[in-house]
Amino acid sequence: MLDVIKLLPENVANQIAAGEVIQRPASAVKELMENALDAGATQIDLVVKDAGKALIMVTDNGCGMSEADARLCFERHATSKISKAEDLFAIRTMGFRGEALASIAAIAQVELKTRRQEDEVGVRVVNEGSVIKEQTPVPMAVGTTFSVKNLFFNVPARRNFLKSPAAEMRHIDEEFTRITLMNPEVGFTLVSDGKELYHLYPGNLKQRIMGLFGSNYDGKLLPVSQDTDRVNIHGYIVKPEFAKKTRGEQFFFVNRRFIKHPYLHHALENAFMEMIPQDSFPGYFLNIEVDPSDIDVNIHPTKTEVNFLDVKLVYAILHAAVRKAIGQNNLSPMIDFEEPNNLGFDFGEVVKSSNPIVQPTVPVDPTYNPFSQKREFTQSSFGGFKSERTEHPGDWRLLYGERADQTPMVEEQPAETGQNSHYLQLSHSYIVTTVKSGLLLIDQHLAHYRILYEKFLKELETNEGHSQQELFPQPFTLNANDASLLRELLPELERVGFVLEQANSTTFMINGTPADLSEGDPISLLEKMLENYKQNRSDLQLDRKLGIAKTMAAQLSIKANTTLSEVEMQNLVDQLFGCSVAEVAPDGKKIYTLITIDNITEQLNN
Ligand code: ADP
Ligand code: MG
Repeated sequence: MLDVIKLLPENVANQIAAGEVIQRPASAVKELMENALDAGATQIDLVVKDAGKALIMVTDNGCGMSEADARLCFERHATSKISKAEDLFAIRTMGFRGEALASIAAIAQVELKTRRQEDEVGVRVVNEGSVIKEQTPVPMAVGTTFSVKNLFFNVPARRNFLKSPAAEMRHIDEEFTRITLMNPEVGFTLVSDGKELYHLYPGNLKQRIMGLFGSNYDGKLLPVSQDTDRVNIHGYIVKPEFAKKTRGEQFFFVNRRFIKHPYLHHALENAFMEMIPQDSFPGYFLNIEVDPSDIDVNIHPTKTEVNFLDVKLVYAILHAAVRKAIGQNNLSPMIDFEEPNNLGFDFGEVVKSSNPIVQPTVPVDPTYNPFSQKREFTQSSFGGFKSERTEHPGDWRLLYGERADQTPMVEEQPAETGQNSHYLQLSHSYIVTTVKSGLLLIDQHLAHYRILYEKFLKELETNEGHSQQELFPQPFTLNANDASLLRELLPELERVGFVLEQANSTTFMINGTPADLSEGDPISLLEKMLENYKQNRSDLQLDRKLGIAKTMAAQLSIKANTTLSEVEMQNLVDQLFGCSVAEVAPDGKKIYTLITIDNITEQLNN
């Protein structure tokens, strides 16, 4: 009987293996650019023709190769990088270590020109379908040029499988963007069919983002920076007010390698949640630095997935870092008081000069109003929004008048109404007040909901919740399951002012309650919080905090159909615009609407 098993001819085996590593022109672009970076290049130029199908050429000024290496590099498993095996993406490419060039050469016509510093001339090697066809000396500058021509020339099925030039070019653009973003200190160019698409100068990440996405990104970015023992996070987010309706720029990198991570993306969405409209997407460019031993990397070189050993920790730090960045931006004064489209208006200096941000998470001081110098709120006056202050210090005038004077973008005259602006209540539920540009209508419940939410979040961070002692401690008895859930929440509950003492396995004595509760019923509030916790149970400390702050704020905020005095209304409005987010309540509902004078004129003229 004849033997049926045959070894595949080497070139066929190479082609099959190559298909794994090089799926499309963009994969070759990625491998060649990464090699150039590995070679220590400070300038890398990419030229493509016909979306990489006709030509991919990468030129670098890196270390170059010796004559022998210039031949050897095309061999499978030829690599000079074994020593970096502990590196994250050394691990990633393990199965394919030293396979990229072998794979490319198996399915294309490759010309390599390379020269090291110590060599007088360079060497030119031509490899077609894994066969070295030519080798000649060549005069050239130090560095390496790989020209990959007619990719898949000997694998017609693959070549036919490629998408339209536009689609393949998008893939190349995507790889180019990912690589250049995380290597801003290296200069790059990309020329496609004779047209220069990018010319990126060496610089910092912010400059690189602007180089890639346009100089108008300058005012749109907020720096994110968070160093901890286990995880460091650095980069930029796009300010919430510039969030796009299309899934815009969303880049996670781990140790400077691009990854996709839906769970961590959720941390971003969560951090932005209350600040951007539901149908908009956050933009971010963030590098997560971790010890390579804290991650587990998918072996496949074309995959972009990474598993973190402690992904919840990374989630929490990421969320905190982004919230901090947003808090420092203190966006509400910037967008509250302008014409709807006038987003460039900037109260930046006022905010920056006196806004002390300290906590790592949600560093928002709800009592802080950048436009008021004289504000003196007490804790209780805040929660109950009652203030001793009776005369108006002119905050509103500052907002609409004086500040506007200094800001050329606002063309209106200083407000005449500012000094004696007043507050009306509509249907015991809405506050009506005039501002410079028109009429402001505020939902009193949602406004107070937002104010209390930020206050409780802050207390949960800083442990400064005030408690009032109960003269007659009440017992609170639950079933065994609820009692154990309540125990999980105890640390957070204490932070907002509850003092609970466990009497037996199912009964707690309520010895103290949050100062804001005053007349409220602590038991029903605790029950609400338990209920909410049961429904959205999460091991994440962060989610627990958000949940508690939300429930407490929802329960304790003033409701519709509550009569308010003018002073109370004024305080509510002042405090609202001292919040980090004044636009929307924690449940995403719009808190106020501005009817501009233009709107009114238009209405009347129609
Ligand atoms: P790997 O990058 O996993 O080592 P490759 O097949 O991509 O495998 O490259 C093989 C080897 O060729 C590299 O280890 C390196 O020594 C050499 N090489 C590739 N590209 C360059 C370059 N642009 N400059 C200098 N050396 C290079
Ligand atoms: Mg490589």
